[in-house]
Amino acid sequence: MTKNERLIQELSELDKKHFLHPISPIKQQQEDGAAFIFTEGKGVHLYDLNGNCYIDGMSSLWNVNVGHGREELGKTAMEQMQKLAYSSNFSTFSNEPAIRLSAKLAQIAPKGLSATFFASGGSEANDTAYKLVRNYWLLKGKPSKKKIISQTKSYHGVSMGATSTGLKPYREFTNSLAPDFCYVEHFSAQALRELIETEGADTIAAFISEPVQGAGGVHIAPENYFKEVREICDEYEILFITDEVITAFGRTGKDFGIEHYGVTPDVMCFAKGVTSGYLPLGGVMLSEEIHQDFIELSEGTMLHGYTYSGHPTACAVGLKNIEMIENENLTENAKVMGKEMLNGFNWLKSNLEIIGEVRGLGLMGAIEIVKDQVTQEKFDSPVSPLIVGEAAKRGLICRSVIFDGQDTLVFAPPLIINKTEIEEMTSILYDSILAVERQMV
Ligand code: PLP
Repeated sequence: MTKNERLIQELSELDKKHFLHPISPIKQQQEDGAAFIFTEGKGVHLYDLNGNCYIDGMSSLWNVNVGHGREELGKTAMEQMQKLAYSSNFSTFSNEPAIRLSAKLAQIAPKGLSATFFASGGSEANDTAYKLVRNYWLLKGKPSKKKIISQTKSYHGVSMGATSTGLKPYREFTNSLAPDFCYVEHFSAQALRELIETEGADTIAAFISEPVQGAGGVHIAPENYFKEVREICDEYEILFITDEVITAFGRTGKDFGIEHYGVTPDVMCFAKGVTSGYLPLGGVMLSEEIHQDFIELSEGTMLHGYTYSGHPTACAVGLKNIEMIENENLTENAKVMGKEMLNGFNWLKSNLEIIGEVRGLGLMGAIEIVKDQVTQEKFDSPVSPLIVGEAAKRGLICRSVIFDGQDTLVFAPPLIINKTEIEEMTSILYDSILAVERQMV
């Protein structure tokens, strides 16, 4: 056994025994051990302990927007840590990176969003939004407005509130949920209106939606959907929250995903791409109007805040990361490369038997796997996980979505990806899907 093989074996045994992985098949981990132990990242590539190189076709968890191994971010973190790694922001304590990042966000966010509350990630950001909108209606003298409406196929995280607005299998994982949440069929303005009428607008605090549903299978809303949502929310006095945890900071070819739809939310959550995953950070932006209402109506202390809200090092890295996205025109690159990626998917569709619908917006994309291209009939059991396995063998990491009868491959490569790397992704996908097609006959 080589030294490296011994290391892999040692780590794999320790992994099985001690490391409870997030969102993972717990039995399979015990049987197989850690399938990939990553050691290094550079650009769009990840490297593992076996010396294999992969295109990170998911930007890891939709978040490594500027790509791996960016020394500028490491340098920024080190400098900030040496100066002031951490200090509290409770009460009137503050720090320069958090102040400057909140000002920068106000400058680039959809018009009207002006004040940021920081959290450490997307789930915390969404839970913060749910708490703040409820507190808002309490302050406005409408305490019955408590319910949050979310959509089928939406994912908003795994804290108790976020789970309660999320995908059905996640809701079923725990046998109790947070109170006052209800669900509506995705992308149906009519269904939203009917639900509001049934529940009573005076019981509803807010409606939340991702601009593009990510973990639910990369579903893109029809062109007019969010305009109708905005109108309905205004009509019934319901706040509109967008969850931009995946879609912000260039991912869809615009700075923020909702900009494709020409509407502004009242509240906007972000995380992931704000630091490209280099440090945990998330947050909630409020419209100037809501912020002013809080200032005028609040009495005493706002009793919501995390130890790491406005973490100086995370905020410094966030600022630098946004500067890099701007200076390197990565939002524009996401738009252009997104078109290349979609062209690649369409080429695959016309050259392979088992591809149904393909879709994409910027660098978020999906390929549906079907048994029959004409009828769109699905296979009896999902095939996309087999393709994910074949793609990994050939050096591409992507993800399959199989809940609710879906059989879908999803993609979100780093925004720095170039044409050659997109072509490599397409070519690996072709070989992988063909290999699976051959196993099926
Ligand atoms: N919202 C969306 C749209 C997400 O995709 C995710 C994570 O994938 C979350 C929220 C939760 O974020 P986190 O895992 O940082 O808590």
